[in-house]
Amino acid sequence: MPELPEVESLRRILAKSAAGRRMVSATIRDGRLRRAVSNDLPATVAGRAIQRVGRRAKYLLIELSGGQVMIVHLGMSGSLTHRRDGFDPGALDPRHDHVEFVLDDGSRLVYNDPRRFGLMKVVARGNLDSTEELKGLGPEPLDNDFNPGYLWQITRGRTAAIKNVLMDQEVVAGVGNIYASEILFRAQVRPTRPARKVTRDELSRIVEHTVQVLREAIGRRGTTFRSYRDSRGQPGRFAERLRVYDRTGKPCLVCGTAIRSVVLAQRSSFFCPRCQK
Ligand SMILES: [Zn+2]
Repeated sequence: MPELPEVESLRRILAKSAAGRRMVSATIRDGRLRRAVSNDLPATVAGRAIQRVGRRAKYLLIELSGGQVMIVHLGMSGSLTHRRDGFDPGALDPRHDHVEFVLDDGSRLVYNDPRRFGLMKVVARGNLDSTEELKGLGPEPLDNDFNPGYLWQITRGRTAAIKNVLMDQEVVAGVGNIYASEILFRAQVRPTRPARKVTRDELSRIVEHTVQVLREAIGRRGTTFRSYRDSRGQPGRFAERLRVYDRTGKPCLVCGTAIRSVVLAQRSSFFCPRCQK
């Protein structure tokens, strides 16, 4: 599932390749996503320039002229590709190209989503922070607001597993299952530990490794398991750097102990029983 690094990688590429272009037209081939794409969307975006490409948590924010913002969430399996000369559409199944935008240079932005858990909608910029998807989100993990003191305050009363707290979007926005496992491995904290029992030093390590893991993943354009592709149709290259995720039974890269998995909040979580306390 695309998490913050995948969406941030996408944002960076689109900020270079698509910002400044104008949307000529949009076509909804099949708008049945998590929530149906509004039939008004093509008329709303046509003729508007893409002024800036931003991101909040796992949401891509395509800022358009006239004070409108198109919010895109990739769901479980979505991708938004910018198809220009040399783009290889063979990377993605064209049956799942659900929404297409034609830009003024003839290139196309295409939203592909086999499992249809994504979301695409346009809101007025002034209403962005209060929109259902964005209101209530916690700080960005790469911002200074996400720091050991903040995490200490948040976790003191919490009996939930630390991994579930890290994945709580109201605590910190954009960390999902893959990266939470990797962060906790590097911080040497077991994912099942009650959050309130995690020490101040350990919380400092969690914050430090959150930043490191996410930055490293962004630099490698994210992690691809199945259908995820970046906006050029390329897979991310962070999968080869994963130390625990999806490595059940394989030796820990630090101590050689077999990696274990446990289900927390219906998600598989991976840890080394020796390195993580
Ligand atoms: Zn180990």
